Amino acid sequence: MTRWQRILNQAITSPADLPRHLQPDDPGATEVSAHYPMRLNPYYLSLIKKKGDPLWLQAVPQGIELADQVCMADPLAEENLSPVANLVHKYPDRVLLLVTSQCAMYCRFCTRKRKVGTPAMVISDATVQEGLAYIRSHPRIKDVLISGGDPLLLSDERLDRLLAGLRAIPSLQIIRMGSRVPCTLPMRVTKRLCAILKKYHPLYINTHFNHPDEVTPEAARACNRLADAGIPLGCQTVLLKGVNDNAETMASLMRSLLTVRVKPYYLFQGDLTRGTNHFRTTVECGQAIMRRLIGHISGMAVPTYAVDGPYGAGKVPLTPSYIQSLDRELCFTNYQGKTCFYDNNG
Ligand SMILES: *Cc1c(COP(=O)(O)O)cnc(C)c1O
Ligand code: SF4
Repeated sequence: MTRWQRILNQAITSPADLPRHLQPDDPGATEVSAHYPMRLNPYYLSLIKKKGDPLWLQAVPQGIELADQVCMADPLAEENLSPVANLVHKYPDRVLLLVTSQCAMYCRFCTRKRKVGTPAMVISDATVQEGLAYIRSHPRIKDVLISGGDPLLLSDERLDRLLAGLRAIPSLQIIRMGSRVPCTLPMRVTKRLCAILKKYHPLYINTHFNHPDEVTPEAARACNRLADAGIPLGCQTVLLKGVNDNAETMASLMRSLLTVRVKPYYLFQGDLTRGTNHFRTTVECGQAIMRRLIGHISGMAVPTYAVDGPYGAGKVPLTPSYIQSLDRELCFTNYQGKTCFYDNNG
């Protein structure tokens, strides 16, 4: 067993096994982990400072998860848009391919909460092969997004085989992976892993950090290693109440990501996923945060604020509007709130 696998094996899977001072107050929390699994590995646990802090909220089950009467099991209609098991084909030119049900941590706000880490998510070599066959027989697909679960929890050998299989499809141009491992289990990013990944360029990785306390020296080493392997790194952050729903935290996170060579890609409005309603903010909150980022911090550090539309509508930007009126003249507000004009008689 490798070091990262040993760390993962030591993960806490029930709130009752947490150190006493980190145990949730509500007695319902233990029941939650039977519905939505808990996995808190010793690395991420070591980053939690106290009960209720932004990292604790992401990792520790709370009874409130079972009380959600608002949200849906599958808000993005992924199951309806799935022509073969574990493949979601929503946009003409790109697909999402789920290759494992496992993650280094089960985030309480996960959009695939209905199935990650549960027996309901059945993934096998056969389903992955079916996915590859689907991509091969649909040459309009240029971009595959490998996700799960977390694809970097696959063994080196399985990943190598999967990537080789995808690269053998001539019509496929881009391979993308979505992985929270650089944040939640950075020791998984070994030199050996990077040597495998770099054989399959163009390969992009979008990672997932939600709070500046997650950008540790270990996470920095993982991101630097991936970047040194020539992999462009993006970040898909989720806007979460109590975690990062204020401009100072968000600006600090986005700046920290750039220092570890991660370019913020999306900031997602919370999905309407059952069991996550307590994390949702309003869109006004997200737009107010974006107004405090745009123009105020490096443009490189500014993500696209977007909602993934319910029922498979796709991702739509929610960038606040700076346009006051547009005709023969454009009247707009700048980042400082000043009214400006631009001659539009092109
Ligand atoms: C998010 C997503 C994509 C990728 O969208 P981009 O905007 O290109 O990053 C593709 N397919 C599905 C099903 C998705 O949910
Ligand atoms: S790592 Fe990603 S897929 Fe896994 S639980 Fe967290 S948000 Fe969900």
